[in-house]
Amino acid sequence: MFTAHSLNGNSLPLKTLCFTFDDGPGKHTLDIAKYLFEEGVPATFFVVGKYAINHPDILSSLVNWNHTVGNHTFDHPDIPYYVSVNGNIQEQIIRTETVLPVKPDDTIYFRAPYGKWSPEVAAELNTNLLSSLNYVGPIHWEVGGIDCWYWLQGKSVEDAVDIYIADIEKAGKGIVVFHDEIADMEFLKPANKTYELLKQLVPKLKALGYNFVSIDQIETLKDAAKESLKFQLALGQRKALTLSNDRSFQLTNSGSSFNMQKKGNGQVSLLLENSFLTLSTSQIVTLTSAPDEAAIFDYIPVRNNRFMLRSHTGNYLAIDKNNGSLSANAQFMRSAAIFNYIPIGTQANTKISLKERMVLIKKGIRFVKSKLLS
Ligand SMILES: [Zn+2]
Repeated sequence: MFTAHSLNGNSLPLKTLCFTFDDGPGKHTLDIAKYLFEEGVPATFFVVGKYAINHPDILSSLVNWNHTVGNHTFDHPDIPYYVSVNGNIQEQIIRTETVLPVKPDDTIYFRAPYGKWSPEVAAELNTNLLSSLNYVGPIHWEVGGIDCWYWLQGKSVEDAVDIYIADIEKAGKGIVVFHDEIADMEFLKPANKTYELLKQLVPKLKALGYNFVSIDQIETLKDAAKESLKFQLALGQRKALTLSNDRSFQLTNSGSSFNMQKKGNGQVSLLLENSFLTLSTSQIVTLTSAPDEAAIFDYIPVRNNRFMLRSHTGNYLAIDKNNGSLSANAQFMRSAAIFNYIPIGTQANTKISLKERMVLIKKGIRFVKSKLLS
Protein backbone atom coordinates (compact mmCIF):
# COMPACT_ATOMS: atom_id res chain seq x y z
CA MET A 1 0.00 0.00 0.00
CA PHE A 2 1.10 3.59 -0.51
CA THR A 3 2.12 5.50 2.59
CA ALA A 4 0.79 8.94 3.45
CA HIS A 5 4.32 10.31 3.65
CA SER A 6 7.43 9.44 1.64
CA LEU A 7 9.79 6.64 2.72
CA ASN A 8 13.56 7.01 2.66
CA GLY A 9 16.86 5.24 3.37
CA ASN A 10 17.34 6.64 6.85
CA SER A 11 17.51 3.17 8.43
CA LEU A 12 20.64 2.20 6.42
CA PRO A 13 23.92 1.85 8.34
CA LEU A 14 26.51 4.60 7.91
CA LYS A 15 28.59 4.48 4.72
CA THR A 16 25.86 2.49 2.95
CA LEU A 17 24.25 3.73 -0.25
CA CYS A 18 21.32 2.62 -2.37
CA PHE A 19 21.57 3.95 -5.95
CA THR A 20 18.36 4.79 -7.83
CA PHE A 21 17.82 6.02 -11.40
CA ASP A 22 14.75 7.90 -12.61
CA ASP A 23 12.99 8.72 -15.87
CA GLY A 24 14.29 5.96 -18.17
CA PRO A 25 14.66 3.76 -19.96
CA GLY A 26 16.62 5.70 -22.53
CA LYS A 27 19.71 5.44 -24.66
CA HIS A 28 22.15 5.50 -21.70
CA THR A 29 20.30 2.96 -19.53
CA LEU A 30 22.07 -0.19 -20.76
CA ASP A 31 25.57 1.34 -20.47
CA ILE A 32 24.83 2.50 -16.93
CA ALA A 33 23.24 -0.79 -15.85
CA LYS A 34 26.07 -2.92 -17.28
CA TYR A 35 28.78 -0.74 -15.71
CA LEU A 36 27.12 -0.90 -12.28
CA PHE A 37 26.67 -4.67 -12.57
CA GLU A 38 30.39 -5.08 -13.32
CA GLU A 39 31.20 -2.88 -10.33
CA GLY A 40 28.90 -4.89 -8.01
CA VAL A 41 26.56 -1.96 -7.45
CA PRO A 42 22.88 -3.03 -7.45
CA ALA A 43 20.52 -0.23 -8.47
CA THR A 44 16.83 0.50 -8.82
CA PHE A 45 15.54 2.00 -12.07
CA PHE A 46 12.24 3.86 -11.64
CA VAL A 47 10.95 3.72 -15.19
CA VAL A 48 8.36 5.86 -16.96
CA GLY A 49 5.71 3.66 -18.61
CA LYS A 50 5.54 5.64 -21.86
CA TYR A 51 9.27 4.98 -22.45
CA ALA A 52 9.35 1.46 -20.95
CA ILE A 53 6.57 0.19 -23.21
CA ASN A 54 8.89 0.43 -26.23
CA HIS A 55 11.91 -1.19 -24.52
CA PRO A 56 11.02 -4.53 -22.93
CA ASP A 57 14.53 -5.69 -23.96
CA ILE A 58 16.18 -3.04 -21.78
CA LEU A 59 13.96 -3.94 -18.83
CA SER A 60 14.92 -7.64 -19.07
CA SER A 61 18.61 -6.70 -19.21
CA LEU A 62 18.18 -4.68 -16.01
CA VAL A 63 16.80 -7.74 -14.25
CA ASN A 64 19.55 -9.99 -15.68
CA TRP A 65 22.14 -7.61 -14.22
CA ASN A 66 20.61 -7.87 -10.71
CA HIS A 67 18.93 -4.49 -10.79
CA THR A 68 15.40 -3.69 -9.60
CA VAL A 69 12.79 -2.09 -11.84
CA GLY A 70 10.34 0.28 -10.11
CA ASN A 71 7.24 2.22 -11.19
CA HIS A 72 7.56 5.98 -11.89
CA THR A 73 4.04 6.40 -13.46
CA PHE A 74 3.13 6.24 -17.16
CA ASP A 75 3.28 9.93 -18.16
CA HIS A 76 5.47 11.41 -15.40
CA PRO A 77 2.80 13.81 -14.08
CA ASP A 78 3.10 16.20 -11.15
CA ILE A 79 0.76 13.91 -9.18
CA PRO A 80 -0.89 16.34 -6.69
CA TYR A 81 -1.70 18.67 -9.62
CA TYR A 82 -2.83 15.76 -11.83
CA VAL A 83 -5.19 14.50 -9.11
CA SER A 84 -6.51 18.05 -8.52
CA VAL A 85 -7.70 18.18 -12.16
CA ASN A 86 -9.30 14.73 -11.85
CA GLY A 87 -6.43 12.83 -13.53
CA ASN A 88 -6.69 9.07 -13.14
CA ILE A 89 -3.63 8.27 -11.00
CA GLN A 90 -4.64 4.61 -10.53
CA GLU A 91 -4.40 4.15 -14.28
CA GLN A 92 -0.92 5.76 -14.30
CA ILE A 93 0.26 3.01 -11.93
CA ILE A 94 -1.56 0.04 -13.48
CA ARG A 95 -0.63 0.88 -17.10
CA THR A 96 3.04 1.07 -16.16
CA GLU A 97 2.90 -2.13 -14.12
CA THR A 98 1.73 -4.11 -17.17
CA VAL A 99 5.09 -3.42 -18.87
CA LEU A 100 7.30 -4.05 -15.82
CA PRO A 101 9.26 -7.33 -15.64
CA VAL A 102 7.59 -8.40 -12.38
CA LYS A 103 5.72 -11.49 -11.28
CA PRO A 104 2.13 -10.76 -10.19
CA ASP A 105 2.85 -10.94 -6.47
CA ASP A 106 6.28 -9.23 -6.43
CA THR A 107 6.80 -6.14 -4.28
CA ILE A 108 6.93 -3.07 -6.54
CA TYR A 109 8.77 0.06 -5.45
CA PHE A 110 7.30 3.39 -6.51
CA ARG A 111 8.77 6.86 -6.85
CA ALA A 112 6.63 9.94 -7.42
CA PRO A 113 7.76 12.26 -10.25
CA TYR A 114 9.57 15.31 -8.77
CA GLY A 115 9.06 13.66 -5.34
CA LYS A 116 5.66 15.39 -5.22
CA TRP A 117 3.09 13.61 -3.08
CA SER A 118 0.29 14.12 -0.57
CA PRO A 119 -1.64 11.95 1.91
CA GLU A 120 -4.71 12.45 -0.32
CA VAL A 121 -2.89 10.85 -3.27
CA ALA A 122 -1.94 7.83 -1.12
CA ALA A 123 -5.56 7.46 0.00
CA GLU A 124 -6.82 7.71 -3.60
CA LEU A 125 -4.42 5.00 -4.80
CA ASN A 126 -5.17 2.75 -1.83
CA THR A 127 -8.88 2.69 -2.69
CA ASN A 128 -8.08 0.12 -5.42
CA LEU A 129 -6.13 -2.94 -4.27
CA LEU A 130 -4.98 -3.60 -7.84
CA SER A 131 -3.16 -0.27 -7.97
CA SER A 132 -1.81 -0.41 -4.42
CA LEU A 133 -1.53 -3.88 -2.92
CA ASN A 134 2.09 -4.80 -3.70
CA TYR A 135 3.43 -1.27 -3.69
CA VAL A 136 6.00 0.27 -1.39
CA GLY A 137 6.40 3.99 -1.73
CA PRO A 138 6.72 6.71 -2.56
CA ILE A 139 10.48 6.24 -2.20
CA HIS A 140 12.20 9.52 -1.38
CA TRP A 141 15.95 10.03 -0.95
CA GLU A 142 18.79 11.38 1.17
CA VAL A 143 20.84 12.63 -1.81
CA GLY A 144 18.84 14.28 -4.60
CA GLY A 145 19.22 13.98 -8.36
CA ILE A 146 21.30 17.08 -8.97
CA ASP A 147 22.74 15.55 -12.18
CA CYS A 148 20.12 16.90 -14.60
CA TRP A 149 20.34 20.40 -13.11
CA TYR A 150 24.07 20.28 -13.72
CA TRP A 151 23.61 19.20 -17.37
CA LEU A 152 20.99 21.95 -17.72
CA GLN A 153 23.52 24.54 -16.56
CA GLY A 154 26.21 23.15 -18.87
CA LYS A 155 28.43 22.13 -15.94
CA SER A 156 31.18 19.55 -16.30
CA VAL A 157 31.17 15.89 -15.25
CA GLU A 158 33.91 16.74 -12.71
CA ASP A 159 31.70 19.43 -11.13
CA ALA A 160 28.84 16.93 -10.86
CA VAL A 161 31.12 14.29 -9.27
CA ASP A 162 32.26 16.87 -6.68
CA ILE A 163 28.71 17.87 -5.71
CA TYR A 164 27.59 14.22 -5.40
CA ILE A 165 30.61 13.41 -3.20
CA ALA A 166 29.92 16.47 -1.04
CA ASP A 167 26.19 15.65 -0.69
CA ILE A 168 26.89 11.96 0.05
CA GLU A 169 29.56 12.78 2.65
CA LYS A 170 27.13 15.19 4.30
CA ALA A 171 24.33 12.60 4.44
CA GLY A 172 26.77 9.75 5.32
CA LYS A 173 24.35 7.13 3.92
CA GLY A 174 21.04 6.72 2.15
CA ILE A 175 19.19 6.59 -1.13
CA VAL A 176 20.90 8.49 -3.96
CA VAL A 177 19.03 9.73 -7.06
CA PHE A 178 20.45 9.92 -10.59
CA HIS A 179 18.78 10.25 -13.99
CA ASP A 180 19.62 7.67 -16.67
CA GLU A 181 17.18 9.66 -18.81
CA ILE A 182 15.36 12.96 -18.37
CA ALA A 183 11.57 12.93 -18.65
CA ASP A 184 9.73 15.76 -20.38
CA MET A 185 12.66 18.10 -21.13
CA GLU A 186 13.43 16.73 -24.60
CA PHE A 187 16.00 19.44 -25.29
CA LEU A 188 18.07 18.25 -22.34
CA LYS A 189 18.25 14.53 -23.23
CA PRO A 190 21.34 14.78 -25.48
CA ALA A 191 23.23 16.59 -22.67
CA ASN A 192 22.88 13.65 -20.24
CA LYS A 193 26.36 12.69 -18.96
CA THR A 194 25.29 10.58 -16.00
CA TYR A 195 27.10 7.48 -17.38
CA GLU A 196 30.41 9.42 -17.46
CA LEU A 197 29.62 10.80 -13.99
CA LEU A 198 29.21 7.30 -12.56
CA LYS A 199 32.49 6.04 -14.01
CA GLN A 200 34.28 8.68 -11.94
CA LEU A 201 32.00 8.64 -8.91
CA VAL A 202 31.82 4.90 -8.13
CA PRO A 203 35.62 4.36 -7.77
CA LYS A 204 35.87 7.46 -5.57
CA LEU A 205 33.03 6.29 -3.30
CA LYS A 206 34.62 2.84 -3.01
CA ALA A 207 37.92 4.49 -2.04
CA LEU A 208 36.03 6.43 0.64
CA GLY A 209 34.73 3.13 2.06
CA TYR A 210 31.11 3.17 0.90
CA ASN A 211 29.06 -0.04 0.44
CA PHE A 212 26.20 -0.44 -2.02
CA VAL A 213 22.93 -2.27 -1.32
CA SER A 214 19.77 -2.98 -3.29
CA ILE A 215 16.49 -1.33 -2.31
CA ASP A 216 15.03 -4.53 -0.81
CA GLN A 217 17.85 -4.52 1.77
CA ILE A 218 16.53 -1.36 3.43
CA GLU A 219 14.89 -2.51 6.69
CA THR A 220 12.13 0.11 6.91
CA LEU A 221 11.06 -0.62 3.33
CA LYS A 222 11.00 -4.37 4.06
CA ASP A 223 8.69 -3.66 7.01
CA ALA A 224 6.46 -1.45 4.84
CA ALA A 225 6.16 -4.29 2.29
CA LYS A 226 5.06 -6.78 4.97
CA GLU A 227 2.76 -4.37 6.77
CA SER A 228 0.74 -3.45 3.71
CA LEU A 229 -0.80 -6.81 3.12
CA LYS A 230 -3.32 -7.47 5.90
CA PHE A 231 -6.94 -6.35 5.87
CA GLN A 232 -10.43 -7.23 7.07
CA LEU A 233 -13.35 -7.59 4.69
CA ALA A 234 -16.47 -5.82 5.89
CA LEU A 235 -19.88 -6.33 4.35
CA GLY A 236 -22.64 -3.97 5.44
CA GLN A 237 -23.69 -3.07 9.01
CA ARG A 238 -20.06 -3.14 10.25
CA LYS A 239 -19.94 -6.95 10.09
CA ALA A 240 -16.89 -8.65 8.64
CA LEU A 241 -16.05 -12.00 7.07
CA THR A 242 -14.89 -14.49 9.68
CA LEU A 243 -13.69 -18.07 9.44
CA SER A 244 -16.07 -20.37 11.32
CA ASN A 245 -15.47 -23.84 12.80
CA ASP A 246 -16.76 -25.66 9.72
CA ARG A 247 -14.18 -23.73 7.59
CA SER A 248 -16.83 -21.67 5.82
CA PHE A 249 -16.98 -17.86 6.06
CA GLN A 250 -19.73 -16.06 7.97
CA LEU A 251 -20.38 -12.41 8.85
CA THR A 252 -19.60 -11.56 12.48
CA ASN A 253 -18.49 -8.52 14.46
CA SER A 254 -14.92 -9.81 14.87
CA GLY A 255 -13.57 -10.45 11.34
CA SER A 256 -10.60 -12.52 10.11
CA SER A 257 -7.39 -10.97 8.83
CA PHE A 258 -6.88 -11.57 5.10
CA ASN A 259 -4.22 -10.84 2.58
CA MET A 260 -4.28 -10.95 -1.19
CA GLN A 261 -1.99 -12.09 -3.98
CA LYS A 262 -2.18 -10.65 -7.46
CA LYS A 263 -2.33 -13.33 -10.13
CA GLY A 264 -2.06 -11.08 -13.20
CA ASN A 265 -4.76 -10.04 -15.69
CA GLY A 266 -6.85 -8.43 -12.96
CA GLN A 267 -7.13 -11.71 -11.03
CA VAL A 268 -6.33 -12.35 -7.37
CA SER A 269 -6.19 -15.01 -4.69
CA LEU A 270 -7.28 -14.32 -1.13
CA LEU A 271 -5.33 -15.80 1.76
CA LEU A 272 -5.97 -16.41 5.43
CA GLU A 273 -2.63 -17.14 7.14
CA ASN A 274 -1.06 -19.56 4.63
CA SER A 275 -4.29 -21.04 3.23
CA PHE A 276 -6.10 -19.92 0.11
CA LEU A 277 -9.81 -19.22 -0.19
CA THR A 278 -11.30 -21.68 -2.67
CA LEU A 279 -14.66 -23.08 -3.76
CA SER A 280 -15.96 -26.43 -2.51
CA THR A 281 -17.90 -28.61 -4.94
CA SER A 282 -21.10 -27.07 -3.56
CA GLN A 283 -19.73 -23.58 -4.38
CA ILE A 284 -19.19 -22.61 -0.73
CA VAL A 285 -16.00 -20.62 -0.07
CA THR A 286 -13.62 -22.59 2.14
CA LEU A 287 -9.84 -23.01 2.54
CA THR A 288 -7.17 -25.02 0.74
CA SER A 289 -3.41 -25.31 1.05
CA ALA A 290 -2.98 -26.28 -2.62
CA PRO A 291 -4.50 -23.56 -4.78
CA ASP A 292 -5.83 -24.33 -8.25
CA GLU A 293 -8.19 -22.37 -10.53
CA ALA A 294 -10.94 -22.50 -7.88
CA ALA A 295 -8.74 -20.26 -5.70
CA ILE A 296 -8.41 -17.54 -8.36
CA PHE A 297 -11.02 -14.79 -8.66
CA ASP A 298 -11.63 -11.83 -10.94
CA TYR A 299 -11.15 -8.63 -8.94
CA ILE A 300 -13.73 -5.99 -9.84
CA PRO A 301 -12.95 -2.64 -8.23
CA VAL A 302 -15.73 -0.40 -6.92
CA ARG A 303 -14.94 3.12 -5.70
CA ASN A 304 -14.21 3.84 -2.02
CA ASN A 305 -12.13 0.81 -0.93
CA ARG A 306 -14.63 -1.73 -2.26
CA PHE A 307 -14.62 -4.59 -4.73
CA MET A 308 -16.54 -7.62 -5.97
CA LEU A 309 -15.15 -11.09 -6.71
CA ARG A 310 -16.16 -13.42 -9.54
CA SER A 311 -15.22 -17.09 -9.42
CA HIS A 312 -13.87 -19.32 -12.22
CA THR A 313 -17.41 -20.73 -12.56
CA GLY A 314 -18.57 -17.27 -13.68
CA ASN A 315 -20.63 -16.65 -10.53
CA TYR A 316 -20.03 -13.73 -8.18
CA LEU A 317 -19.37 -14.25 -4.47
CA ALA A 318 -22.27 -13.42 -2.16
CA ILE A 319 -23.61 -14.41 1.25
CA ASP A 320 -25.99 -17.37 0.87
CA LYS A 321 -29.41 -16.46 2.29
CA ASN A 322 -30.06 -20.03 3.50
CA ASN A 323 -26.91 -20.91 5.44
CA GLY A 324 -25.27 -17.46 5.86
CA SER A 325 -21.96 -18.56 4.37
CA LEU A 326 -19.96 -16.97 1.59
CA SER A 327 -20.66 -18.81 -1.70
CA ALA A 328 -20.22 -18.39 -5.45
CA ASN A 329 -23.97 -18.32 -5.98
CA ALA A 330 -24.71 -14.93 -7.58
CA GLN A 331 -25.26 -15.28 -11.30
CA PHE A 332 -25.45 -11.55 -11.96
CA MET A 333 -23.42 -8.60 -10.66
CA ARG A 334 -26.55 -7.07 -9.14
CA SER A 335 -26.59 -9.85 -6.48
CA ALA A 336 -22.82 -9.83 -5.81
CA ALA A 337 -21.45 -8.98 -2.38
CA ILE A 338 -19.55 -5.67 -2.35
CA PHE A 339 -16.66 -6.10 0.06
CA ASN A 340 -15.19 -3.15 1.88
CA TYR A 341 -11.56 -3.72 2.80
CA ILE A 342 -10.12 -2.23 5.95
CA PRO A 343 -6.30 -2.23 6.16
CA ILE A 344 -4.91 -3.54 9.47
CA GLY A 345 -1.78 -2.11 11.09
CA THR A 346 -0.33 1.37 11.13
CA GLN A 347 1.07 2.84 7.96
CA ALA A 348 4.69 4.02 8.07
CA ASN A 349 4.74 7.72 8.79
CA THR A 350 8.17 8.95 7.81
CA LYS A 351 7.58 12.68 7.74
CA ILE A 352 9.71 14.85 5.51
CA SER A 353 11.97 16.93 7.75
CA LEU A 354 12.23 20.71 7.72
CA LYS A 355 15.81 20.32 6.50
CA GLU A 356 14.71 18.17 3.55
CA ARG A 357 11.97 20.69 2.78
CA MET A 358 14.51 23.55 2.71
CA VAL A 359 16.80 21.57 0.38
CA LEU A 360 13.86 21.01 -2.00
CA ILE A 361 12.88 24.69 -1.92
CA LYS A 362 16.48 25.80 -2.56
CA LYS A 363 16.74 23.32 -5.43
CA GLY A 364 13.52 24.71 -6.90
CA ILE A 365 14.87 28.27 -6.71
CA ARG A 366 18.14 27.19 -8.36
CA PHE A 367 16.17 25.51 -11.14
CA VAL A 368 13.95 28.55 -11.79
CA LYS A 369 17.00 30.84 -11.79
CA SER A 370 18.83 28.61 -14.25
CA LYS A 371 15.78 28.56 -16.53
CA LEU A 372 15.58 32.37 -16.45
CA LEU A 373 19.27 32.77 -17.17
CA SER A 374 19.45 30.26 -20.03
ZN1 LIG B 1 11.15 11.63 -12.68
